[in-house]
Amino acid sequence: MTLTIGVDVGGTKVLGGVVDPEGKLLAWTRRNTPAHDVSQTLEMIVDVVRELAAKHEVEAVGVGAAGWIDAERSNVLFAPNLAWRNEPLRDAVASVVGLPVVVENDANVAAWAEFQFGAARDAHTSLLLTIGTGIGGGIVLNGELVRGAHGIAAEFGHMLAVPDGHPCGCGRRGCLEQYTSGSALVREAQILAKNNPDSARILLELAGGDPGRIDGPMVTQAAQQGDNAALAAFIEIGTWLGIGMADLVQILDPQVIVVGGGVIDAGDLLLAPARTAYTQSLAQRARLAVAEIRPAELGPRAGVIGAADLARRR
Ligand SMILES: [Zn+2]
Repeated sequence: MTLTIGVDVGGTKVLGGVVDPEGKLLAWTRRNTPAHDVSQTLEMIVDVVRELAAKHEVEAVGVGAAGWIDAERSNVLFAPNLAWRNEPLRDAVASVVGLPVVVENDANVAAWAEFQFGAARDAHTSLLLTIGTGIGGGIVLNGELVRGAHGIAAEFGHMLAVPDGHPCGCGRRGCLEQYTSGSALVREAQILAKNNPDSARILLELAGGDPGRIDGPMVTQAAQQGDNAALAAFIEIGTWLGIGMADLVQILDPQVIVVGGGVIDAGDLLLAPARTAYTQSLAQRARLAVAEIRPAELGPRAGVIGAADLARRR
């Protein structure tokens, strides 16, 4: 049985695991990410690989990183939440750990994991949207991960939703992730609580009376307890999610769309309005089959499992 290591490098933590060919995690470790220091982040990845490789015989390492990865899967071109700028990550890790290494975008590895072992394992064509601080995207088309000509395909979060809308971290205005993401959820809830405090009594109680202190988990908790403002914020971002997914169906016609990321913990609070808007947006398709929307199954382990599996198939 060949084992590989997957490492998932995010803005706040590095997760690592030893994974078997069936996608089973045999060992697991984590470190905090020193996000603003290139060499320390690299040391952290190497440290995680060494710890796992000391106890298991592994043949390759896959690294999923939150950033743009080139089509050769060796350089991190740009990572908005990490210090990397054109970083030759593959060779840097490989030369120290003495194993073959592949580097891949974090949403791509999660999309691959859900396709291979998770919510889309019965599909040949599937999409993943991770709804977290922003939106990550991944495309598996006829069993192949789609990287694009330059390695930067599936940036669903930066499709245009609203011309001249809210400013986005990418420098443009009106991107989809400004309307459906954890950040959008918090922004909507804060505005609603400020403008109509009577509709946000539970939410404001959780936030100690200050709309500015409302965060994502508070909105979820308040919505679960029936707070009207929190529910309205979920309907708003869920509706935008549904509209975005309908556009992706127009382009790619997948069998399954998997929704993951931190916000999916809210379950149907997010997915119910998303499904309604999705169905309405695709009403012209009448009785034709359209992609099924499913919540992700692998949770925060998806990145590690997908990176490890892609390393095995390198
Ligand atoms: Zn953008």
